[in-house]
Amino acid sequence: MTRLFGTNGIRGVVNNDMNCELAMGIGKAWGTYLKRTNPRPHCVIGYDVRLSNHMLKSAMVAGLLSTGCDVVDAGLLPTPTLQYTVKEKQFNADIVITASHNPPQFNGIKGIAYDGTELSKDVEEAIETIYFSGSYALAEWRNVGRFSTWDGAIDLYIQGIVSTIDVARIKHRRFHVVLDCGNGAGCLTTPLLLQKLGCTVTRLNCEPDGRFPGRHSEPIPGNLTALMKTVPEAGAFFGVGLDGDADISIFIDENGKYLWEDKTLALVGNHITKENKGGVTVTPVTTSTCFEDVIRRNKGTVIYTKVGSPIVARVMKERHAVFGGEENGGLIFPQFQYCRDSGMSLAKMLEILAKENRPLSELIAEIPAYEMYKTKIVCPNEKKEFVLNQLVEQMKTDHAVVSTDKTDGVKLLMKDGWVLMRPSGTEPMFRVYVEAKEKKQAEQMAMFYKNLVGSLIESG
Ligand code: MG
Repeated sequence: MTRLFGTNGIRGVVNNDMNCELAMGIGKAWGTYLKRTNPRPHCVIGYDVRLSNHMLKSAMVAGLLSTGCDVVDAGLLPTPTLQYTVKEKQFNADIVITASHNPPQFNGIKGIAYDGTELSKDVEEAIETIYFSGSYALAEWRNVGRFSTWDGAIDLYIQGIVSTIDVARIKHRRFHVVLDCGNGAGCLTTPLLLQKLGCTVTRLNCEPDGRFPGRHSEPIPGNLTALMKTVPEAGAFFGVGLDGDADISIFIDENGKYLWEDKTLALVGNHITKENKGGVTVTPVTTSTCFEDVIRRNKGTVIYTKVGSPIVARVMKERHAVFGGEENGGLIFPQFQYCRDSGMSLAKMLEILAKENRPLSELIAEIPAYEMYKTKIVCPNEKKEFVLNQLVEQMKTDHAVVSTDKTDGVKLLMKDGWVLMRPSGTEPMFRVYVEAKEKKQAEQMAMFYKNLVGSLIESG
């Protein structure tokens, strides 16, 4: 069956593969699905800053209303703000119109379950099945859904964060922060949050604009050069850059240095497991060993999952984890909610700095250093399984391998590093990740295993 949902919802170019017909069809399919277990589902919808937000939202709302779902429009806001809303206000579902960090011509549809977690694959497939069969359960004229608007989500979210952290301690330090919202949805919440926490804020790209005029929406080093330059110039404690829908946050230390996401994950994980005297943490197999090093030091444990934040969040919930997240700046704080959240990440970073009373660069320097090398190779989808099976078979006789982990692809744990080879879930690609102590070693290993994957693709 054609898959519409990727790792993070449905995405496409506006008025091309992401159009009103699709949005309305998904709205009808979703409504039909929700009505199976609830005679009158109550949904909330929100959207990021993209120029097509009202166009797609309106189509989606029309589809939902036609099946007899009531819909509340919560307006323009970050994805985690809406996730918090669905959980706190006990909606049955939440829909976000967003394409996260993609270029401005893209938009997307992302589904959230009643508890604020991203939809599971099973639910996405059930919605797809209804969509492709066109078997919509449309309501009688008297039972179509009711539409209303509500503007309380931002206050609810900020109040929620503030009640979770040590505000007095943060306020006492009067932090100066440089904030780069990248003209995304974070503009609606993050300046307000920092104000509540008594911070002085130097703002970059803090006007919502769906053309993303300030910088590209993805907070990678090449897109955050202005932020890196501004932090030391302004004499700020640190900088923070957000992606388009503000679930991802990237930190810059007081010297203007970009902090790799693994290290931020380890820094926050270190703090939380120290406070909890251990505890379960969850992260995908792609995360650097520096995370496990600090968690084990604090007598905590790490559960590795497949790649994808919905999976990490679900395992965190099942295993009562104290912390988790991905190696891309998506941190998950279970005491607040089970999803990636830049607002909570920022607040927690301020709390850590307030408690430690040391510069961010010093805290990061304590995290063990590894060198990661990532590469990929084109692999037709139909060959992925063959290549993976061959790799597993061949690695049984590789003497350098201490143990093998098949959580996602195949991960080879070696004496001084690891190699992960996994088929991409969304593209005709095979990805190769290597981590070692030395950069050159990581690069050489990556080339060796990439060539191995390449030869298997050719032989398959
Ligand atoms: Mg995002």
